[in-house]
Amino acid sequence: MTAMTLPTDDFDTAHIWHPYTSMTRPIPALKVARADGCLIYLEDGTVLIDGMSSWWCAIHGYNHPVLNQAVQDQLTKMSHIMFGGLTHEPAIELARLLIDITPSPLEHIFFADSGSVAVEVALKMAVQYQHAQGKPAKSNIITTHSGYHGDTWNAMSVCDPVTGMHGLFGESLPKRIFVPAPSIRPDETWSDDEMLPVRQAFAEHGESLAAFIIEPVVQGAGGMRFYHPNYLKAIRALCDEYGVLLIFDEIATGFGRTGKLFACEHADVTPDILCLGKALTGGYMTLSATLTTRQVAHTISNGEAGVFMHGPTFMANPLACRVALASTQLLLSQEWQAKVASIAQQCQAKLEPLRQLPIVADVRVLGAIAVVELTHTVDMRWIQAQCVARGIWIRPFGRLVYLMPPFAISDDELDTLLTQMVQMIGEMADV
Ligand SMILES: *Cc1c(COP(=O)(O)O)cnc(C)c1O
Repeated sequence: MTAMTLPTDDFDTAHIWHPYTSMTRPIPALKVARADGCLIYLEDGTVLIDGMSSWWCAIHGYNHPVLNQAVQDQLTKMSHIMFGGLTHEPAIELARLLIDITPSPLEHIFFADSGSVAVEVALKMAVQYQHAQGKPAKSNIITTHSGYHGDTWNAMSVCDPVTGMHGLFGESLPKRIFVPAPSIRPDETWSDDEMLPVRQAFAEHGESLAAFIIEPVVQGAGGMRFYHPNYLKAIRALCDEYGVLLIFDEIATGFGRTGKLFACEHADVTPDILCLGKALTGGYMTLSATLTTRQVAHTISNGEAGVFMHGPTFMANPLACRVALASTQLLLSQEWQAKVASIAQQCQAKLEPLRQLPIVADVRVLGAIAVVELTHTVDMRWIQAQCVARGIWIRPFGRLVYLMPPFAISDDELDTLLTQMVQMIGEMADV
């Protein structure tokens, strides 16, 4: 299996940047002709079972008739219209639904174009809120290690300092306050000792803090780590004590991925600001939403600026809002909880034996997220060739080989995906 046999494109390899990829030593990208259901069809006829949902997004699979119809219906009305001074049914209906299904104090919504921008908006809301209450000194952000919140400047500043490469960007990146990553797992016994360093950081920096930002229960791209929901209860209490807003970044965890519609439901904790993205449109379009409480929205609006200072060109894009509405309605109309639970069960049963291998450090499953943590970093070139040969699509990072399949995956497809993944990891152990 050499790179020569893979369906790649020379122009692409020479000129087009892919995520976190070298322009001089790229691992060429596989050329996709189309995708349907949970299958990806490569240009050369190879068919891959999708284990990634296109980075948490495509929960219903690809080329879904209901979502296609929603896009087509909206396309004939208008694909876009400016949101300054104008509004439309897709934005209104989507806002109504999202406000309805998220925790009840969240009742004001800001639509933007991507997850990173939703995080920028959340951070700006927090700083503007503190300013509007006459506390301009409360302008910094506190977060944990191992987080991931996006690739734009301020989002990057709250990513894990090591994997987020803060060293590389040096002084140009705002300096945030970091506490250790949550370490107690959901299935372990909770201990309040976990909060000691966090309490200390609040005591030391509380006066300068606008907000605490965290991905509830699952830290995704920062390490695929699962942690105890009681952490969120403790953080909520600390934030209240110090007048710090609590931001939950549910861009990866939202829309059922962890087994609850939103991961904050595991802890029964409500944030002041909530970021949604990724699966919001079922993977059809780029769209994000930042929700907040009446208190935050009204305080900002009654402050010195009088308005919230943000307004992207493609704000509340009608095509994206319309397909997000259709995707979310489709999810809610299905027995998604049972489906996610059955994906979890199947993954746990198939992956658990891998724990015996010396190259496997850990196996963990939560909802439709299954992680095999290895003792060493994977060779991406080898993995890519293996995927094509085995008819599966997974994209590990670092030491993490993981699955987050579309909820629409069939038992048979998932079985094949897991069987091939297990064999592949077995083969890694042999070399
Ligand atoms: C992917 C992700 C983001 C960034 O979203 P983009 O749409 O890639 O900008 C932010 N936060 C979390 C938790 C994510 O998983």
